[in-house]
Amino acid sequence: ESCRCPFPSVCKILWLNPCKFSFFRVMIEENYTKERKIPMSDCIFCKIIAGEIPSATIYENDEFKVILDRFPSGEGHALILPKNHVPNVFEIDPAQAGRAYALAAKLARAMKEVLGFTDMNILQNNGPIAGQTVFHFHIHLIPRREDDGINVTWTPGEPTDEQIAAVQAKLTNLI
Ligand code: 5GP
Ligand code: ZN
Repeated sequence: ESCRCPFPSVCKILWLNPCKFSFFRVMIEENYTKERKIPMSDCIFCKIIAGEIPSATIYENDEFKVILDRFPSGEGHALILPKNHVPNVFEIDPAQAGRAYALAAKLARAMKEVLGFTDMNILQNNGPIAGQTVFHFHIHLIPRREDDGINVTWTPGEPTDEQIAAVQAKLTNLI
């Protein structure tokens, strides 16, 4: 189990391993969690959540705010935002990610009825290479319509069965 302390080098110098000493660990984990709940001052979605920047909110509960994308792919492009600042899928509590997707499933079918589209992409970008431009976790709900010009695509590779097996071997039983 890896240490989540933001200062692992200090512990190393002191010859303390917080992952082995529960007292330190609890202290550090509590601070870690608290820090994450504080809105990030330079995060546009934290500002939207705090009401400092206006947004078109379509749903809200204790944990999430759902807003319309300001530069939408088309009518109904919405974003599900956790109210706590969490940058991406690599850092979000998996249980919270689950609740965000449960909300996506509920909203998707309700939006479909009202806006009259039939298909939808649900996307979630993590990191700049993956196209993330706002570094506060969010799920895109993107209604799809015939000839809408939206492009979510890649060139399909053609690995051999051996290459597939090699990747499978690396990735099996990771969690
Ligand atoms: P990403 O590229 O990080 O996956 O998605 C960020 C999304 O946030 C983009 O689709 C972009 O249009 C949207 N966005 C950026 N700034 C604002 C804003 O100020 N308000 C709203 N509602 N959406 C924004
Ligand atoms: Zn934020």
